[in-house]
Amino acid sequence: MRVQTLGAGTPDLAVVACLHGNERCGKTAVERVLAEKPSFSRAVRFVLANEEAIAENVRFIDEDLNRAFPGDPNGKTHESRLAAELLPELDGCGVLDLHSTESQPEPFALVTRLNDRTKRLARATGVGRVVDISYLAGGLIDYVDGVAVECGYRGSERAERNAERVLRNFLGEMDALDTLSDAGSPELYRVFDAVEGANYEFVGENFVRVADGEVFARREDDRANELRADRPFYPVLMSTDGYDEMVGFRAERVGKLSE
Ligand SMILES: [Zn+2]
Repeated sequence: MRVQTLGAGTPDLAVVACLHGNERCGKTAVERVLAEKPSFSRAVRFVLANEEAIAENVRFIDEDLNRAFPGDPNGKTHESRLAAELLPELDGCGVLDLHSTESQPEPFALVTRLNDRTKRLARATGVGRVVDISYLAGGLIDYVDGVAVECGYRGSERAERNAERVLRNFLGEMDALDTLSDAGSPELYRVFDAVEGANYEFVGENFVRVADGEVFARREDDRANELRADRPFYPVLMSTDGYDEMVGFRAERVGKLSE
């Protein structure tokens, strides 16, 4: 793990990249911003989380770090020990946690603890959509006030550019950097269900409403094996190849985040 604190004082703002070693967009974005040697108006801590997994270009070494919190200093897995080392670095901080996915090119934010601070952090990212994913417990943002951003397709240049834009906007909105920024007025969605199943082709589009009775996934080898909506929903993090045993999540639209 690499930890850098820039700006004067004790940080209450932190940026985390590479909880997943094969999602490099956050690392690239942080490197691009810090390469300019910007002067920070408040202290910000930058954490490059799973360096061992980055070196091997894998999501994790022993287990998913984002499912290993709070971790254990004497844990049996690399990620359990790393989680225990990482959390104290974020103590008291509002956190931006940068990821990438297999699900869609446009960035969107994830929150689990919905409060005034996390709402502000989410708006500071400038993205148009925020998903309350408290349905799926156990990630880093369950243990800190934070927002995770899925920046785009894993390994794509667009995800790197999105991550950089989100990071600059976030630092600007949170008064850490003097830069042009814009607080978003995002739509809030809430995940209410996971769609299990292996080898499905997702035939819908994320954040595009699936109507009651509509087919949203099928197995290529078996036309009878289609998944049909039993109520309208919005697909979130749904993809053909993103998960081994799951298509993704069903969400409902709540309204504007600020309401
Ligand atoms: Zn990730």
